[in-house]
Amino acid sequence: MVGGGPAGITAAITAAERGMQVELWEKKNELGGLLLAAGGPRFKKDVMDYVHYLVNKLYRSNVKIRLMKEATPEDVLAGNFDKVIIATGSSPVMPPIKGIDQPFVVGANDLLTNKKGYGKKVVVLGGGLVGCETACHCAERAEEVTIIEALPEILMTVKHSKNNDQSLRQLMKDCDVKTITNAKVAEFKDNKVYYEKDGKQEVIEADTVAIAAGYRSNTSLYEAINGKVDCAVVGDAEVPDNILRAVHHGFHAVRCI
Ligand SMILES: Cc1cc2nc3c(=O)[nH]c(=O)nc-3n(C[C@H](O)[C@H](O)[C@H](O)COP(=O)(O)OP(=O)(O)OC[C@H]3O[C@@H](n4cnc5c(N)ncnc54)[C@H](O)[C@@H]3O)c2cc1C
Repeated sequence: MVGGGPAGITAAITAAERGMQVELWEKKNELGGLLLAAGGPRFKKDVMDYVHYLVNKLYRSNVKIRLMKEATPEDVLAGNFDKVIIATGSSPVMPPIKGIDQPFVVGANDLLTNKKGYGKKVVVLGGGLVGCETACHCAERAEEVTIIEALPEILMTVKHSKNNDQSLRQLMKDCDVKTITNAKVAEFKDNKVYYEKDGKQEVIEADTVAIAAGYRSNTSLYEAINGKVDCAVVGDAEVPDNILRAVHHGFHAVRCI
């Protein structure tokens, strides 16, 4: 198994339970994948509990766990495995906006996992699920949090239940998160975000900008080894989606062996 997120861990545990000899390779020094960011906010503690459950179950299994082991095509092919399950997940999209490499601009995942801190004024680029949750997370300590979204509404492209939708919107209201929609960001410079709305150039100050502009599947390993070894791609590595699908997909890939 390549990848220590929910898809790879579920596939590994399932295969070990069925008597297979299993190795799980994870390139980071920690298991959990994107769930470590998903479970970062205090109001997402349930997700972090699930990470602990999965990781404990994995350590109690017969799976050989290799952390800080990045799977390269050469390593995987040299392993002579009967089956390779690729659960390499997805990575954040960083849009090509001028100044995105400035130090006050950070990825939402880094804020959610406390790898980076944030200041009193936070601007979140992107009003999808991750952007809205990041805004509420930062609102616990920041004085002003504003989401800038290019679409006419926040949470427009999110497919979650009515319950989740209502509770997240209520949380944003309680946290006093402001939203600017129909706005196109042009540049980040000197702790300012320059954007265009209704044909006018606008600017907002920010100590920290969090980028939450979506996720793209990590497909390079699969593309390099597909056809050279029996392999299957599961979870976000196929399509960035959710935990339920990643877990189901990881289980199903092993069930089909
Ligand atoms: C902020 C945030 C909040 C979310 N909230 C929710 C939510 O509330 N509910 C929900 O259902 N879903 C949520 N999601 C989505 C959910 O986290 C993902 O769908 C899920 O984690 C996908 O699991 P995965 O195992 O496919 O990939 P990932 O969790 O991305 O795990 C992939 C793993 O593979 C490793 N890896 C990559 N390449 C290699 C390599 N070459 N060699 C070795 N290891 C490698 C990575 O380091 C990573 O650990 C959220 C996502 C984010 C980012």
